[in-house]
Amino acid sequence: MSQHNHSKEAAAFNQDFDRTTWHDETLWFVRQKRDKAVMPIPEFQELRNLASSIKDHTLSQLDQYLIEFEANALKNGIRVHWAANADEHNQIVLDIIQKSNQNIVENRNIRLVKSKSMLTEECHLNAFLLNNNIDVVDTDLGERIIQFRDEPPSHIVMPAIHLKKEDVGETFHQHLGTQKGEKDPQILTEAARHHLREKFLAADVALTGVNFAIAETGSFVVCTNEGNADLGVNLAKVHIACMGIEKIIPKLAHLAVFTRLLARSATGQPITSYTSHFTKPENGKEMHIVIVDNGRTQQLGREDFRNSLKCIRCGACMNTCPVYRRSGGHSYNFTVPGPIGAILSPNIDLHKYSSLPFASTLCGSCSDVCPVKIDIHVQLYKWRQVVGEKNELSKIKKWSMKGLASVLSMPKVYDLGGKIARGTLRILPHAISHQKNINPWAKARELPTPPTQSFKEWYVENKKKK
Ligand code: SF4
Repeated sequence: MSQHNHSKEAAAFNQDFDRTTWHDETLWFVRQKRDKAVMPIPEFQELRNLASSIKDHTLSQLDQYLIEFEANALKNGIRVHWAANADEHNQIVLDIIQKSNQNIVENRNIRLVKSKSMLTEECHLNAFLLNNNIDVVDTDLGERIIQFRDEPPSHIVMPAIHLKKEDVGETFHQHLGTQKGEKDPQILTEAARHHLREKFLAADVALTGVNFAIAETGSFVVCTNEGNADLGVNLAKVHIACMGIEKIIPKLAHLAVFTRLLARSATGQPITSYTSHFTKPENGKEMHIVIVDNGRTQQLGREDFRNSLKCIRCGACMNTCPVYRRSGGHSYNFTVPGPIGAILSPNIDLHKYSSLPFASTLCGSCSDVCPVKIDIHVQLYKWRQVVGEKNELSKIKKWSMKGLASVLSMPKVYDLGGKIARGTLRILPHAISHQKNINPWAKARELPTPPTQSFKEWYVENKKKK
């Protein structure tokens, strides 16, 4: 598989300077909302510690909790399926859909409404079902917008955050027949509501993700702000819920710890508008849960990286990351973008995603906001070492690192290099010192005036004075 190049993709996003700045500011606004929602909770850090410990404990006994969940879910009347990878997951979902709709008499495709699920994005379920003549409609507003545009999500909580209202207006004009140039969010949302209402009413099957699955009760919880998951599953006769194995929590009493953290960290809300509990199917209806591994046990076995499985997909690390904010979610070319995506993706394909652990300043802001205290920046740094050890560094990076290592190991050469660089930068014309191909650092920045002496020289001189 070819190697993905994050900086190249980011450079393409940066071509539109105004959009890049707008994207940066929009995400930063969400980060600030998160701060405002967190500040009034004096025990917020305690909640983070507790959530992290619950996840640590759960991951240490994941097999047992999964079995406990399965036994209790079966008792409740939920049908439980296990999938080792994306292909198995997709085939199981298709089998359930076809089996439960054998009695359709009209000559038409089976209709499925789907609420947001990053796992199904990861498994490329939509494309698979559409190829098998299932009409799939994403019902989350952001997801529906990008489904119309045939694009992947660019953020795990706000999938269409890369689009402005003008873009949405044009998309709805093309697909829903709204007036050309219409960009009023209320009018556009109303159009989407009418369109989706028809889809809900006609659906045969509803598919949801899972935010938390509770081993003790065999039930699961789905959090949405639009109520689309609830409308879908209440109207359709079959509910399929798809979850990664890491979504388990041991007890119902643990749930509030996570729901208090999730919405505040994600969007700065005290709680998501709908926190729906599913325990058993209604009379005459079917409820299925598909539990998926798809590389998670491999990550569980990597001691340095297992913490990444604590992730509750709030997106806070993306909203705060200066690299994500200015490079856009699509530049990661992985289902989960941003800092957490950069530590999950090398587990799936180290060669393909070897550039992602370098898409970070290692400032640690991601780890600071993470509600389950994943040491994200530390893992990014560790992945960089793995990438180097496995010989997956790009040639230019490999040789520049080697060159730098030799210079840094020879203090005299380092001192001389610094002196030459300072002197040269002072006399070079601006057009050359800021030439984008020679000095990419100066693409969007001014270089400071070079100092006349190095810190080392200054220190020796001033130490003498004392
Ligand atoms: S790593 Fe932490 S901050 Fe990032 S999405 Fe997951 S839970 Fe949220």
